[in-house]
Amino acid sequence: MNQDTPRNIQRSTKAVWAGEKEYRAHGATQVPVVHSVAYTYDDLDYWYEVAVGNEKGHIYGRNTNPTVESFEQKIKELEGAEAATSFSTGMAAISNSLSTFLRPGDRIVSMNDTYGGTNKIFSEFLPQLNINVTLCETGNHEEIEKEVRKGCNILYLETPTNPTVKITDIERMVKVAKEVGALVFVDNTFATPINQNPLEYGVDLVIHSATKFLGGHADALGGAACGNKDLVEKIFHYREINGATMDPMAAYLLLRGMKTLHLRLKQSCESALKIAEFLESHEQVDKVFYPGLKNHPGHDIAQRQMRQFGGMLSFSMKDGLEAVRDFLPRLEFANRAANLGAVETTVGPARTTSHVENTPEERAALGIPESLVRYSVGIEDADDLINDLNQALSNLPETTTKT
Ligand SMILES: *Cc1c(COP(=O)(O)O)cnc(C)c1O
Repeated sequence: MNQDTPRNIQRSTKAVWAGEKEYRAHGATQVPVVHSVAYTYDDLDYWYEVAVGNEKGHIYGRNTNPTVESFEQKIKELEGAEAATSFSTGMAAISNSLSTFLRPGDRIVSMNDTYGGTNKIFSEFLPQLNINVTLCETGNHEEIEKEVRKGCNILYLETPTNPTVKITDIERMVKVAKEVGALVFVDNTFATPINQNPLEYGVDLVIHSATKFLGGHADALGGAACGNKDLVEKIFHYREINGATMDPMAAYLLLRGMKTLHLRLKQSCESALKIAEFLESHEQVDKVFYPGLKNHPGHDIAQRQMRQFGGMLSFSMKDGLEAVRDFLPRLEFANRAANLGAVETTVGPARTTSHVENTPEERAALGIPESLVRYSVGIEDADDLINDLNQALSNLPETTTKT
């Protein structure tokens, strides 16, 4: 058994210390990257005991790896979970977790605004397996409750969502799911374990794309699933056979990133609120979506279930897509990219990033204006980012500024 850091230790301390000491070697202060595919045993009986799981140890890299295990231990402790397992990407975490439990004829209830890849699993791949998918309007708690009460096997949630940062009441959703004996999965990528721990509300499984805020440096892909031992062991078994294993080098980069998670989040969240307030006051900006704003429909729920309102916001522009075309290239301190959650501020239109697979009509139905800009707040100085936004928004060419 791995030694957990004591329960009364703060998340910031856990982010630094959890899953570290027991994986070090040679007196090094850092966890090594173990690139070995297999592990050698001279004692055949002991080898057998490790292979069947009676003794601790590693056999083959698709199953387990010490560096990867260190990552699993850190995310497990940050989420306050009994167990955690890892994946090559966030999408692998989602697809493997669903595939572990869903059978033909089962029913899953979720919402419209899940991550684009997740939405494709729901609309394209699960129906092929004769799994019934019902997607509700995001944030419409009554509709979700109504659908869950008709009976379902999994209730799948994401909060906050991409790109309009909608909030779903986790505690309320767990309550209705328990009525029908459904498992509740929550994609906690946007909030991170620093801002929100869904397991505290009775959720069964927390899923992460570690590629985003957990890693934080946009240089490694990864995913994780955290929950009770029984559930996670089943998912681990599915993953070890199906092969969506996290790479040890990625595990190392993610571990390194996670050590500064709480500091990065603190800066991003503080800046995000200032930036959201600035954008609201700007004449070129139409609507601002950020749960930290009092006029956001999910503000009260977010205040209850999150410790901070997050580093993601989005906004639409008064003069539409043409204005976005002119404005985005003018930003100095932002990568125009499909990623999010990095130390660098990252921007992109929803129509090019999260919802590139949808038609303009579908985006409109989801409440996503064509001019919606997703803004992932990095760890730069908040005033520098505001000044950058201000100069980019204020110097738009005449042609795009309708009168
Ligand atoms: C990026 C993302 C995913 C998918 O993660 P990958 O690591 O890119 O596979 C899933 N959910 C959310 C909310 C995301 O932002």
